[in-house]
Amino acid sequence: MEKRELVIIGAGPAGLTAAIYGRRAGLDVLILEKGLAGGQINITDEIENWPGVPHSTGADLAKSFKDHAAKFQPEFRDVAVESIKLERGSKIVVTDKGEIEGEALIVATGASFRRLGCPGEAKLIGRGVSYCAVCDAAFFQDAEVAVIGGGNTAVEEALYLTQFASKVYVIHRRDTFRADKVPVERALASDKIVPVFDSVVESINGEEMVEGLTLKNVKTGEISELPVEGVFVFVGTEPNVSFLGESQLRRSRGGWIITDENMETSEEGVFAAGDVRDKVLRQVVTAAADGAIAAMAAYAAVTEQQYLHDRLFKPEFTVVLFTSSIDEKQVRLASDAESWAKDKGLPLTLVDGYRFRRMTEKLGVETLPAALLLASGEVRQRVSLTDVTDLAPLFEKK
Ligand SMILES: Cc1cc2nc3c(=O)[nH]c(=O)nc-3n(C[C@H](O)[C@H](O)[C@H](O)COP(=O)(O)OP(=O)(O)OC[C@H]3O[C@@H](n4cnc5c(N)ncnc54)[C@H](O)[C@@H]3O)c2cc1C
Repeated sequence: MEKRELVIIGAGPAGLTAAIYGRRAGLDVLILEKGLAGGQINITDEIENWPGVPHSTGADLAKSFKDHAAKFQPEFRDVAVESIKLERGSKIVVTDKGEIEGEALIVATGASFRRLGCPGEAKLIGRGVSYCAVCDAAFFQDAEVAVIGGGNTAVEEALYLTQFASKVYVIHRRDTFRADKVPVERALASDKIVPVFDSVVESINGEEMVEGLTLKNVKTGEISELPVEGVFVFVGTEPNVSFLGESQLRRSRGGWIITDENMETSEEGVFAAGDVRDKVLRQVVTAAADGAIAAMAAYAAVTEQQYLHDRLFKPEFTVVLFTSSIDEKQVRLASDAESWAKDKGLPLTLVDGYRFRRMTEKLGVETLPAALLLASGEVRQRVSLTDVTDLAPLFEKK
């Protein structure tokens, strides 16, 4: 099977940034993309909050992300990932064109906004129809806009929009908002927010740009027209995780992948970056930052595995001393043990059990310091140390 050091799934801002950082760190990087490199920004009309570039079209920014990553020569492959297999430490990506094993994986498959699915919506995306107030609110200075939805995101984004728009209609199919009490109270107190309850959108109207909405009252069946210049749809967002099995990678409600601050998921060596993560702000800048962190953490994981594999698992016999680099006494013990072994001409491998915690745990070392005799990676004997001379029996066992 094809084997690669780092396999990145998704070539949006998170995946492309991860590719840049991964390649610059010297990793062999394969990046898998089923659509257009650049991800969601390809369907973004204008972007003015990517630092250093005051204004760009989404398509131009997507191209410059792709060109920048290509400069460092990762391999791009045009495939759809169908599943991943995580068994006994191996990480296999199953695509529509074959399987690839990665020493580390970064899942950067992004998210999709749920659409209303009404006439006019698809045609007017980026032309007044938006799914992101933080991204697009500034384009609606003193305009009348509509927010569709009644949950927390809809109400909070409506409040955000009041800083720009002259009036914000909030259209909700029920007779009360589903959102939490505090944002609802703040929204209802705003003289710019006008709730439109019991109503659904029949169509979004306009030729070149949004001009208005056709609404239907779900209780009376009455049809009405609402002239607005912008429509912000907040009826939900979903992570792109359909290729993951039910119980693969720990996820929050809604399916978002949970990571630690190094972007590592519940599975060792599998990282997630960008919109697919459980996080508070889904933007290009946060996706790129996640990608950079994930790539550096993946680099550390790959080199750690390679280093430890060569030192601990390859030799027929090896005696390993695990100490903690943050404990002064143990640092001294490691140094004494090194001199002791050198004097006696004994090959001793020193491992910082604090830094290489996962490997230490994998070998069943619960407390530091500890020493093991390994035979082709299998633990033959273990001792807890009080003095360097406690190492001697391990060398005799060989
Ligand atoms: C209309 C719109 C306007 C926006 N405006 C702004 C803005 O002004 N400023 C801003 O900062 N952010 C904006 N955003 C948000 C921003 O685009 C996202 O936060 C960002 O693109 C997330 O990057 P990502 O790499 O995590 O995911 P994505 O950009 O979603 O990229 C994920 C990639 O993974 C690929 N993929 C998914 N599944 C698979 C699979 N199974 N196999 C292979 N490939 C797969 C997808 O095809 C996609 O290319 C906007 C988003 C939208 C939709």
